[in-house]
Amino acid sequence: MSVGWAVASGIITQRFLALQDKCMLDAEFQDLVNDLQENFDVEGDSVADVVKEINDRLTPLGLRLDHVRLDSGDVIWGLKLTSKEDGQKMRQAALLDHAQLEVGKPGNRMLTVEDVKFYKGVCDRFVKDRSALDDKALEEVAESVLGAGDARKYTKKEHVCCGHTYSDMDFALDTLKKNGWLVPADLDASGRFDHFLPGPRTYLEIFSDDDSVSDCPLCEQKTVIGGESCPNGQCPQWFHTQCIQEYFQQYPDRSCPSCRVKWPEEGGGRHGDDDDMMGS
Ligand SMILES: [Zn+2]
Ligand SMILES: [Zn+2]
Repeated sequence: MSVGWAVASGIITQRFLALQDKCMLDAEFQDLVNDLQENFDVEGDSVADVVKEINDRLTPLGLRLDHVRLDSGDVIWGLKLTSKEDGQKMRQAALLDHAQLEVGKPGNRMLTVEDVKFYKGVCDRFVKDRSALDDKALEEVAESVLGAGDARKYTKKEHVCCGHTYSDMDFALDTLKKNGWLVPADLDASGRFDHFLPGPRTYLEIFSDDDSVSDCPLCEQKTVIGGESCPNGQCPQWFHTQCIQEYFQQYPDRSCPSCRVKWPEEGGGRHGDDDDMMGS
């Protein structure tokens, strides 16, 4: 057995934890995999082989390396936290502490396992109804994912950081933004959840596990937010905007890859929007 895979999984973990939004574009990820193949004793015929081997090492730590395709067509990679058990929780905490020593920069606060659970819970709520997220909703999320005892850490009404005092809401929004779960919808975005959009980590950690979101038949990956649906109301398929555009460049008669009904010229199809954000 080569020790290469253990080293490679360690490097992957460190690299992702060091990134501000904890996600990597596909091209960067491919470079990293090539690097690992060249410099360590890891062999795989394809990226999928390498990912599988690395996930065999990460699973006992409650982590999983995964990817998702955004509507833009970009594929992003990241580490997901999968653990539910206390034993794994301890190992993750040790891992995150270690990562903090190795790669943490001053002012770039590394999240604990509890933090990640809480903020993922908030994102989950955000996806369902962002306008209803208020202090009370934050409290409910904290209690449901962490229990009443630990919930108090997140709902103490005042957070002091770098000499400033923040409300629960401001602190949560700031943390979600800094860690790539949310991105501002416009330059003035502040203070309220409905001024934000899902960021790369929300796509990766929440949408990509949602079975109610359909797969794009062209690339077989989730059509998270947005996407285009077939003009034939009977045809259930949704496509990534970029996937269907590339398809029509190749097949200019613009017939649906699934039901063969013709799509109207440019701009056709129903566009996903906020009222229909799950694309179903
Ligand atoms: Zn697609
Ligand atoms: Zn169709």
